[in-house]
Parts: sequence; C-alpha cells; structure tokens
Amino acid sequence: MSAIPYAFAPAATPSVAIAGSAARFPVHRIYCVGRNYVEHAHEMGSDPTRDPPIFFTKPPDAVVANGGAVPYPPRTANLHHEIELVIAIGRGGRTISPSAALDYIFGYAAGNDLTRRDLQNAAKKRGEPWDTSKAFDSSAPIAAIRPAAQGHLDRGRIWLEVNGEPRQRGDIQDLIWKVPEIIAELSALYALQPGDLIFTGTPAGVGPLQPGDRLEGGIEGLEVLRNTIVAA
Ligand code: MN
Repeated sequence: MSAIPYAFAPAATPSVAIAGSAARFPVHRIYCVGRNYVEHAHEMGSDPTRDPPIFFTKPPDAVVANGGAVPYPPRTANLHHEIELVIAIGRGGRTISPSAALDYIFGYAAGNDLTRRDLQNAAKKRGEPWDTSKAFDSSAPIAAIRPAAQGHLDRGRIWLEVNGEPRQRGDIQDLIWKVPEIIAELSALYALQPGDLIFTGTPAGVGPLQPGDRLEGGIEGLEVLRNTIVAA
C-alpha cells in the first residue's frame, strides 16, 4: 500500500457492475451527448440536421446502481427521464478515427440521463452552462455493462416505462451521431481514458417524474435498468 499523506481519506472510486463478472468497471469520467435522435431534437425545438454534437459531463459519483433509489433532487419541479445507450471505454486514446473507434469500447449498458428540465430550459434561455441541470447527485443511473466481446451494438429497441406506462421508445440505429463518430468527435476534444462512460443521447418521449415513480427501461440485448424515485 502506498502512503500518500492525504489530509483525509479520499472518496471511494465510483464503479458499475459488469454482466457475468464479479469485477467492476471503475468510472473515470462521464460524458454525455445532447440531442442525438431526430424526434427528440424536434421535441426540444432544434433542427438536428445542422447541429454538431453537443457534449456535456456529469461527475463520476453521479452513478446510481441498477435497482437503486434516486432521491428527487432539490431546486427543481420538473425532473425528467432520458433513457440512453451508454458506451463504456476500456482503452485510452486521442483523435481516434471512426474506423478504429470500436477497439476502444469495453462494453455497453443502459443508462438514464436524469435532467432538471426547468433549470436546463432557464440556462438555455440565458446562454448559461448546463451543469446544474445535468450534473447533479444521483443523476446517472446505469445497469450492468455487457462486455463488447459479446458483440457491438448498432441497432435495437430502446424503451422506458414509468409505473408500467410506456414513455420513451426508439431504436439505437436512429442515433444521429453513431457510436464510432461519437468516440471520434469526443476524443478530438478530450483524451479518453479507460473508465470513461459516454451517454449517447435519448429518443423522443422525455417527461416528468415524481417521488414514488418506478422506472424500467433498457436496450435490446442489455440488462434492464430499474430505479425508483424517492422523496428527498
Ligand atoms: Mn441526454
């Protein structure tokens, strides 16, 4: 054991379950892509055909395990769900080409990019950063990661139900920026590291959540993500 003289014990490394393994995926950073399905971009009032990808981040300790409770966050009256395909990065790199991008993927998971929509709309109106609307505590529930060794994903149903009622549905083949392009674009902006997670954007049907709501969502072939919203 090293003996770095920290002033106090450092926080534990956030991690995510890996399907079929006792090992866990240690989270380095969480990146997210905004407005990456045509119909969701339309419902958010933008024209996706002319917009370059929008990236934002969440803190690594925003992850919530599958089955975990999410406390309704403070300073919002409009918490929204966004079911998304998440890419887990297993190898570091910069300026990765789309043709090489799949080699950097550790695996895939279903995640929820929880959003304080009222704060996001206010920030957009004022041209302010999105941090308080996206990067809050417990804002990144994620199911177990399926290793890419079991195959890459470029199509398949994506869906989310709240209390058994369908809310979001789509197909990951309708991503505007595809997985290899996302990795290429992101790695031109940041040095990707093993442990990075990339939320790839949500299909249409986002909507509000209340304390007591049961969320169930997923992507064909991946572990189903289940969480509940609880009063703060
Ligand atoms: Mn999102």
